[in-house]
Amino acid sequence: MSGEFRVGIGYDSHRLVENRKFIVGGVEIPFEKGLSGHSDGDILFHALTDALLGAVGLGDIGEHFPPSDTKWKDAASRIFLEHAHKLIQENGYRVVNVDAVIIVEQPKIGPWRDAIRKSVAEVLGIEMERVGLKAKTAEGMGPVGEGLAAEAQAVALLARG
Ligand code: MG
Repeated sequence: MSGEFRVGIGYDSHRLVENRKFIVGGVEIPFEKGLSGHSDGDILFHALTDALLGAVGLGDIGEHFPPSDTKWKDAASRIFLEHAHKLIQENGYRVVNVDAVIIVEQPKIGPWRDAIRKSVAEVLGIEMERVGLKAKTAEGMGPVGEGLAAEAQAVALLARG
């Protein structure tokens, strides 16, 4: 695999439903609803996993962890990101920094921002200041704005060595 630097982008969205935990970046945020999905529905870990895989051209999360495989039911999504991180390292790369946006009306992400950054940094083996995280609302527009779903976007910069 060639190139001094590689960049990747990731996106994910899940429905907000009752009787599920709201977990982003491995951090559980107390809320009356949670993210649906085959795994724990962690939109941030899923978007970051795709950003890492995309940077090295190794497909996407669905290829590596098919939802049809019962093995991943209710799985902690940390294992997906750990797997992607291992793959980029095997291909000679390390993470320089990641940046991400979470878009959700409620709950408020702000109070949990640093806990989430710390959690992501820990999985990727980087300092917390290399993990950017913004939280936005959709200003009441669309399914996210109506409180029916949450989204995450992420980019990752990788360097050789
Ligand atoms: Mg997902």
